[in-house]
Amino acid sequence: MTPAELRALVRTVPDFPAKGIQFRDITTLLNHGRGLADSVAALADNVAAHAPDRIVGMEARGFIFGAAVAVHLSLPFVPIRKPGKLPVEALSVDYALEYGTDRLELDAGAIAKGDRIAIVDDLIATGGTALAAAELLRQAGADAVCAGFVIDLPDLGGAAKLEADGVPVSALMQFD
Ligand code: 5GP
Repeated sequence: MTPAELRALVRTVPDFPAKGIQFRDITTLLNHGRGLADSVAALADNVAAHAPDRIVGMEARGFIFGAAVAVHLSLPFVPIRKPGKLPVEALSVDYALEYGTDRLELDAGAIAKGDRIAIVDDLIATGGTALAAAELLRQAGADAVCAGFVIDLPDLGGAAKLEADGVPVSALMQFD
C-alpha cells in the first residue's frame, strides 16, 4: 500500500482521552491485514538499516509493532514495561507527563552491554516515552541505535528531541 493509503487507515478520534485532543487510533490499521503487514514491513526496513541486535517496544501498543518487527527480522524482542509488572529485578526511569509522572521498567538481564537496540512504538508525540526508553537502554549499557514509529506528531517536537539525544528517528507518516 502507498504511504497515503496506510495513513488513511488511521482513525482520528476527537476529544480522547481529554477534550481538545485528537487521538490517532491505530486499531483501524491493525484491523486491516495488508495495512498491518505493510506497516510492519516498512518499520522493519527502517530499523534494519541501523543493524540492531534487538528490538524493544513500550507497553502496550509498542508491543504489537515491536514484536512484529522483531519476528519480521528474526531478532529478539524485549518488552519495556509499565511499573510493577516485571517479576525480576528491573531498571527504571521516571519521566514527566503533562500532569504528573510515569515510570518505565526494563529487565536488567535482558540486554547485554554494547548491544545495538532499536526502539519501536506506535507513535511519538512529546518524546517523553521514547526518551525514557533510551535512558533505560543507556542504564543497561546498551546503545539505542534508532527509533521507529508508525506515526510522528512533529508539532509536539518529540522526534527532534530524540534526534538531539543522538537517536535517529523514522516514522511511516505524520499528523498535525
Ligand atoms: P509521548 O511520550 O511521545 O508524548 O507519547 C507517546 C506515547 O503515548 C506512545 O507510547 C503512544 O502509544 C501514546 N500516545 C500518545 N498520543 C497518542 C495518540 O494520539 N495515538 C496513539 N495511538 N498513541 C498515543
